[in-house]
Amino acid sequence: MDFVGNHILSVSQFDRDDIERVFEVADMMRPYAHREVVTRVLEGAILGNMFFEPSTRTRVSFGCAFNLLGGEVRETTEVRASSLAKGESLFDTARVLSGYSDVIVMRHELEGSVQQFAKASRCPVLNAGDGANEHPSQALLDLYTIKRELATHGKTIDGMRITLIGDLKYGRAVHSLVQMLTLYSNIRVSLISAPELALPSRYIDALRLSGHEVIESDRLEDGIAQADILYVTRTQEERFGSQAEADKYKGIYKVNRNIYTEFCEPNTVIMHPLPRDSRENASDLDADLNENPNLAIFRQTDNGVLIRMALFALILDVVGQISRHSRKVNWYTAKRF
Ligand code: ASP
Repeated sequence: MDFVGNHILSVSQFDRDDIERVFEVADMMRPYAHREVVTRVLEGAILGNMFFEPSTRTRVSFGCAFNLLGGEVRETTEVRASSLAKGESLFDTARVLSGYSDVIVMRHELEGSVQQFAKASRCPVLNAGDGANEHPSQALLDLYTIKRELATHGKTIDGMRITLIGDLKYGRAVHSLVQMLTLYSNIRVSLISAPELALPSRYIDALRLSGHEVIESDRLEDGIAQADILYVTRTQEERFGSQAEADKYKGIYKVNRNIYTEFCEPNTVIMHPLPRDSRENASDLDADLNENPNLAIFRQTDNGVLIRMALFALILDVVGQISRHSRKVNWYTAKRF
């Protein structure tokens, strides 16, 4: 695909070469994200970071990514604080905000809202999550993480065994990830969820159509024993009709040290799009795994910055100019990576 000036709304826009291109540029971003080098390549550019639904990682990492490329960030974090609360249409909001920005990142609780917003926007829009539908940058950072983690064990995405656990019905990170997996070959996908929270059949059909083996179960032990990747998710309680309904599913799958030690192969990588629900009754991914070297959740979040920098650099067409606008940092930088 041609990235320059384009919206990123759905993972269906990507083929394997596009994904590889994003990963290649993400690799180039490492010294910048690690604060070894700074670049001013986006000096003067403005990101409209519009989050009309809660977010920590996605919002902050998109903002950091833009700052790391030298650009400025303007942010709205609540519907209440914007004119949408006064009945303004997405069309009007998009026309207005795109006049103030070079690129917009948007999250909204309604499926299809970001796509609708993008139609009216006068600058490129990146979908940071539209309801239970899609979360393309999360899928890219997840796949990038999977590729890197598997490579350390001599494995590839083609031929891997992945187990997706939890709320597969409403989890948009899962929905985007499984669609991307259809571009790869010979994957065994185990789906572990309560029957009511199963992955919608259109995604299962797409996985099978691409030749992958799909196994469905509601028993954790069935899916985690022979897996290269465990992808744990939280119950998306904000998508349920009532808290009581969501509570029925909380804590039914708890991945913890005992379960991992008893059932998983020694190198099984543990991932989660985060936030993990650490409340006692939920605890989808227990803190007692924090010291396990196969816990990749914070490598995932670090990789999110690289992927989001890569998307901005590609869309705003500065990949070839970055190093020309760079210099070594002149402050103390903690060795975090
Ligand atoms: N942060 C991810 C999302 O926005 C996953 C989650 O919220 O559970 O979809």
